[in-house]
Amino acid sequence: MVMDSPVAGIHVRSARRPEAEVTQVTAHGTGAGTVLDPIQHPSPSIDQRRDGVRPDILLLHFTNMKTAEAAVERLCDPASKVSCHYVIGEDGRLWQLVDERMRAWHAGLGEWGAVGEVNSRSIGIELANQGQQPFPEPQMAVLEALMRAIMVRWNIPPERVIGHSDMAPNRKDDPGPHFDWRRLALQGLAVWPEPGAAGGDLSLFRDLAATVGYGRGFSDEDVLQAVRLRFRPWARGPLERADIAVLADIAVRFPVDRKVQGA
Ligand SMILES: [Zn+2]
Repeated sequence: MVMDSPVAGIHVRSARRPEAEVTQVTAHGTGAGTVLDPIQHPSPSIDQRRDGVRPDILLLHFTNMKTAEAAVERLCDPASKVSCHYVIGEDGRLWQLVDERMRAWHAGLGEWGAVGEVNSRSIGIELANQGQQPFPEPQMAVLEALMRAIMVRWNIPPERVIGHSDMAPNRKDDPGPHFDWRRLALQGLAVWPEPGAAGGDLSLFRDLAATVGYGRGFSDEDVLQAVRLRFRPWARGPLERADIAVLADIAVRFPVDRKVQGA
């Protein structure tokens, strides 16, 4: 999708205020005028992107910690050796921990499409959430405004916006079954299958999954679980035609290495 509307009409008031105070999202909409003013809270756990590459993947996580503040502290603790570019609280507070040009340490081992060292190629956003509850509106509104800005800035197409579980299906399950990927897709910020997409031959599973971006190095079970977490979190049991339908539709419209204009 062509992103001709780089910013949404969400104005976040100055975030340079005591962290306990709630940053307010004062407007919603899709027009111009987003002002994101993150709380700057630098993490020491950074280095250069390998070979000077540009980020072309946007990776979403949940924090799985009690509070956003606790997550920020951990992501800035040199002993933990983890970091990410942004953290968004349930109330929409936005922290920036790492400059987008730098490599943050959030992805770990895994792959997406042809990318095998995801930290160098990605921008990471952590959403305060423990995996058991929906993501509140203020948090989603700020996430969308931030994603829109990042995707324009770095020319990242929607098929390269993924969850941690997509690139590391053998060990990660975030942002989890309560995250509203369809909502993002309706705004061109992620991919989602067309309703009523036709099913298909079960033997095509891994080829279609690889075209979408899922790594060849993982087991069938791990990939199926990741696909369902993302697109069919209610599904149980063995691979079925509906799983194939999802992958077949996205493989045609949004293959991971689709040639993107200007990329
Ligand atoms: Zn994660």
